[in-house]
Amino acid sequence: MKTNLVLTIAVQLAIFGCRPKVSGDLIFSNVNVIDVIEGVTIENQDVVIDGNQINTIIPHGQAKLYSDQLIEGDGKFLIPGLWDMHMHLRARKLEKEQYKDELAEENKDLLSLHVVNGITSVHEMGGDLTDLLLEWRGSIRSGELLGPNLYLTGPKIEGKDPIFAGSYSVETESDIDSIISLLMGWKVDGIKIMDGSFEPEALFEVIKACKQAGLKSYAHLFIATSPLEASNSHLSGLAHMINLVPAAALQYDLSLREMRAKQINNPGHPAYTTYLNSLYDRINDGILREIIQTYADNETALISTYNVVRSQSTTRAKHIQTLKYVGPGIRKSVLDRFERTKRMPSVALHLIERNFDFNNKVLQLLPESNAKLLIGTDSGFGNLAPGLSYHYELDAMGSQGVRPSYLLKAATYNAAEFMGKHDLEGSVTIGKIADLVLLNKNPLQSIRNTQAINGVVRNGKFLDRNMLDQILQSLANKYEAN
Ligand SMILES: [Zn+2]
Repeated sequence: MKTNLVLTIAVQLAIFGCRPKVSGDLIFSNVNVIDVIEGVTIENQDVVIDGNQINTIIPHGQAKLYSDQLIEGDGKFLIPGLWDMHMHLRARKLEKEQYKDELAEENKDLLSLHVVNGITSVHEMGGDLTDLLLEWRGSIRSGELLGPNLYLTGPKIEGKDPIFAGSYSVETESDIDSIISLLMGWKVDGIKIMDGSFEPEALFEVIKACKQAGLKSYAHLFIATSPLEASNSHLSGLAHMINLVPAAALQYDLSLREMRAKQINNPGHPAYTTYLNSLYDRINDGILREIIQTYADNETALISTYNVVRSQSTTRAKHIQTLKYVGPGIRKSVLDRFERTKRMPSVALHLIERNFDFNNKVLQLLPESNAKLLIGTDSGFGNLAPGLSYHYELDAMGSQGVRPSYLLKAATYNAAEFMGKHDLEGSVTIGKIADLVLLNKNPLQSIRNTQAINGVVRNGKFLDRNMLDQILQSLANKYEAN
């Protein structure tokens, strides 16, 4: 049908020599379309949206445009909406009743904050608000609530004696079955597995069970589980690039499990720091290259969470600005984390830099491999405020020399493809759903230009800069720092 429309326009032009009329609910006139798959700019296009779908894309000037919302796109750039593939909506302190309602509302307000920043799809990676998330997912779908497409994991899965609030414990094979059927009943999209208290074999069994059930599996691997074996068990996504460290050092040390039990597995503890430093000393670049190749072969994606490693130290000031739009509970949780890091001994801070260097090593190797990079911030309670943090994530990787086109594809098409949605999402293409970002500057020139947001289209609905600013202002007013 779409091809026919383009054909009709061409035929009318040829026969009648006049410009046919094209109408739509929303039209971007004379805009530069960014083809994120090929990494090129297609200049001077008219992009016509009907309902929530991109209906027509034709060179500017071929048709007369009619729309109640005709947006002048001259000098602007249209990209697909961005995807944050690792973020959290969680409260952590839910057991303390006084936090419950406020933190629930603060989390709900994070939804519009994502959209305002051009993030139109997110993957929640486990927390303690599942019942609310299911409700919000429904309200977003029905258009009652402004928020991104919400992909969910539900609560995290852990082994015996879970560490995180709201996690489910898996100890036996029948636990695996019952948890998977419970989560599937909630129509989650994947399962988040935390290696902390898992025996590796049991963890691999959960991954395999997910594969069988048709669910994505995401693993946060600490030190005692092999990222290679996890990938070979058909892991869908490694929750953090940094989790490749022990594989690259060729060491999985079960004594780490003991450290965890004794609660000394934090970067501030000398024994842990010494151990991790010894891992870093042994990292082998050749092996790392092979691991990344295995991830590519097994189609296990790597989720960046690049900045969260460091935002606790050197980029703190930048991130503090993003806290203006979040509620006091989340704001405090992020600031507390920054403060904890400040008090760390220098050996621990040095370790953070080594984490950062390792991530850079992975980043340098990824573009030459076929392994899939997905962009994730790990934002949410206790980590980072969402929104601008996503753009800082891209910018920080861009600053390491990673091509803007590579990062932009990772931020959009890769994620849609990973979720099996690339027929309908992930690029500015006829027939796809209109989740779009209008930029004032070309993101292929600098990935920093994703920050120059002129407007956002969410499911066909256009929010111009004024509307976006109004939403930001109302959040800032509501949560004004005192
Ligand atoms: Zn996380």
